[in-house]
Amino acid sequence: MPLIEVRAPSDRTFFYEVHWVVTRRCTYACQYCPAHRHNPRAFEADANVLVDGVTRLASLLPSHDVRLNFSGGEPTRHKAFPALVEAALAYRCIRRCRVLSNLSMPLDVYRRLAGLGARFPERLQFVASFHFAHAKPAAFVSRVSLLLESGVDVLVKLVLGAVVPLSVVELIEDLRLLRARHRKLVIRPQRVRGTESEYVDQVERMTSDTPTDWGDSRAVTYLDREILVHEVREEFDAVIAGGRNLFYGYSCDAGIGALFVNNDGSVHSALCRPEAKPLFNLYDPLSDASLPTTGVICPHERCECSASIRIPKRVV
Ligand code: SF4
Ligand code: SF4
Repeated sequence: MPLIEVRAPSDRTFFYEVHWVVTRRCTYACQYCPAHRHNPRAFEADANVLVDGVTRLASLLPSHDVRLNFSGGEPTRHKAFPALVEAALAYRCIRRCRVLSNLSMPLDVYRRLAGLGARFPERLQFVASFHFAHAKPAAFVSRVSLLLESGVDVLVKLVLGAVVPLSVVELIEDLRLLRARHRKLVIRPQRVRGTESEYVDQVERMTSDTPTDWGDSRAVTYLDREILVHEVREEFDAVIAGGRNLFYGYSCDAGIGALFVNNDGSVHSALCRPEAKPLFNLYDPLSDASLPTTGVICPHERCECSASIRIPKRVV
């Protein structure tokens, strides 16, 4: 059964989510990743354009609690990335910066970011994904350790397909040693889309004792055998795998609760791009930057990712 409603939980922080693809270039080329997500020739904005963009965003959302989610490609490979994060953290309305990274760049990049984590306590988070075909365990763990030592929250995602590498156990052990010192480290498997594997379930169980509340929880309502169920959930992988992500025609708060900035600066109300044309261009000072005042009626058959499902929505 599809979800009937997704809403902000009344007792937890609810962020206005901005998802910003800083670059579509990447240091890896994972075989499960669509080519446009790691295109080495994709457009990248200059440092001053990115920093002006963050100023513009902050001026549009002064009274919201904004969480800026930087992703890619690999955002930390953009040479201006630390400057962009520093500029963002200077604005009070930007309560959190969350970086989705594979931690593959030289240590100095993460030293600079860790320094920002120490300067702006509780405001910098990393979602660090480990890709077994490319990543080097020792280098990855040392970068996670560096970030944690500076007070940065880290959620490690072990990206797993149907075949789970034996080295996953060793890596989890190394991360658990870190976890003994840093209670904010969270470890989770992330399934390659469409993967159903009992081994991934096992990894799920091995890591389920590292709970987190990163502002990702949502109160959801659905029907289960004619009974209306209300629950608070943080993970939506099972909702996608179970086909309960069907919201065509629903009223969705994309645009009033979330925004998506593409690598060329084009802005849509959500990652799924519900509008035919961008709302405006964040990188173009002549583009009329104004935000929607209403949400959208969902034009898509499915909500394809957890970030999109988290946007509040309801059946109409
Ligand atoms: S690290 Fe992420 S963005 Fe880069 S190729 Fe792999 S899945 Fe794609
Ligand atoms: S697909 Fe897009 S418009 Fe539809 S419910 Fe999900 S986020 Fe909203």
